[in-house]
Amino acid sequence: MCGVFGAYSNTDCVAEEVYLGLLALQHRGQESAGVAWIDAARRVNVEKGMGLVHEALDQKSLSRTKVTSAIGHVRYSTAGGSLLQNAQPICANYAQGPVAIAHNGNLTNLTELRSSLESRGAIFQSTSDTEAILHLVAHQPAKRPLDALLYALERARGAFSLVVLLEDGLVAARDPWGFRPLALGRRDDNYYISSESCAFSLIGATLVRDVEPGEVLLINENGLTSYRLGIEADRRWLCSFEFVYFARPDSVIEGRSVYRARQEMGRRLAREGSSEECSSGGDPDAADFVAYLPDSGTTAAIGYAEESGIPFEAAVVRNRYVGRTFIQPTQRVRELGVRVKLSPSQELFADSSAILVDDSLVRGTTAGLVVAMVRECRARELHLRISSPPVKYPCYYGIDTPSRGDLTAAGHSVAQIAASIGADSLRYLSKDGLIGAIGLPGDRLCTACFDGCYLDDPAEAVPSGCGVCSCGGVF
Ligand code: SF4
Repeated sequence: MCGVFGAYSNTDCVAEEVYLGLLALQHRGQESAGVAWIDAARRVNVEKGMGLVHEALDQKSLSRTKVTSAIGHVRYSTAGGSLLQNAQPICANYAQGPVAIAHNGNLTNLTELRSSLESRGAIFQSTSDTEAILHLVAHQPAKRPLDALLYALERARGAFSLVVLLEDGLVAARDPWGFRPLALGRRDDNYYISSESCAFSLIGATLVRDVEPGEVLLINENGLTSYRLGIEADRRWLCSFEFVYFARPDSVIEGRSVYRARQEMGRRLAREGSSEECSSGGDPDAADFVAYLPDSGTTAAIGYAEESGIPFEAAVVRNRYVGRTFIQPTQRVRELGVRVKLSPSQELFADSSAILVDDSLVRGTTAGLVVAMVRECRARELHLRISSPPVKYPCYYGIDTPSRGDLTAAGHSVAQIAASIGADSLRYLSKDGLIGAIGLPGDRLCTACFDGCYLDDPAEAVPSGCGVCSCGGVF
């Protein structure tokens, strides 16, 4: 998962606004950050580094950078290792001029594209799939840059939401299936492109609309020009997990508030039956309170408490200065991270029956450790509620989920998972419940990690990281 941000103005300097946009998208990637722009000498410049936005980039120097168009990227690696050479934007000065690309998503035909390009002499500098797009552009020197980009994107399969800087202007592009969100914002005559609309308010801009699946939007001194990629998708595949976990709750995607969707997931989860097995003989409907795993379970827990009529308590406290557990790279760091990050309240849990709501259960590591910590607080009963369906299949479209063998729901029943985690009961939201809570038709959403229904046969949709990076096939 990554975040991209772009800005275009006819009058204002925007490099610092791109920095601010990246700060607002920090939740989408913490491994590296970068900003690129084209200078007066027609050369592409890039500043990038490892770590959080404020560590990787020099805000003061960006505030002094006099450019009216720039793009930026925050990265969590899904294709290619966590290395500075894989940090984005990826830039080049080729025969037709400067180009910089920032990419969110994974191409599923990278292996094919890469070997075809290498057979034509391309030398790859990184293991990132974004570089393949850059090479495809550079291999069309007779075309003007925007046409070369359209050519390149029509050959890419899978997920891409891009911001691109060309001499023609700022370009936003979204794959024909619409896997990853991409939004257009505006403040006066300045235009902004962002992975999520939450970044607009920080710079005083407002959401205009989503960039449409299959749309390529050019922004320059002539205003906005919309192009279509020459690929018709049978249906849309907007990632439902964006609503479950990835997107910030104050974002709006395809007209749906992420906050409202999560709240409704909690409500539906509370409604979806109370007859699950309870190994301890306890009664979740008579729980003393509903708590959440901060921060991703918060909004669903609010919905659950509203619907069930059980009081809501902020009974698990989060250390705000520790990063998101799910996207720490190693199992050891993940396990250590939970105790550093989360602390259940002894006062609230002692001798109580509690419902604990989280957004998803992937490996089950975090939930198991939190349940153990709550047990140490002498909770009488603990009922775990998950506001999404069981994650049984890996993602090939830009989300860092493990291989199938490490997905706890892939090989275990709900009762087995509850027992292994140590919860008295466990309930997941149904797939229909998830789709209903998001409020978009099911055939506009990707739910592949829940139901295994992929755009392409997974055997053909080779994960972009496999064989070329350190992920060992796990991504
Ligand atoms: S497989 Fe899951 S995480 Fe990946 S794009 Fe589809 S819904 Fe999102």
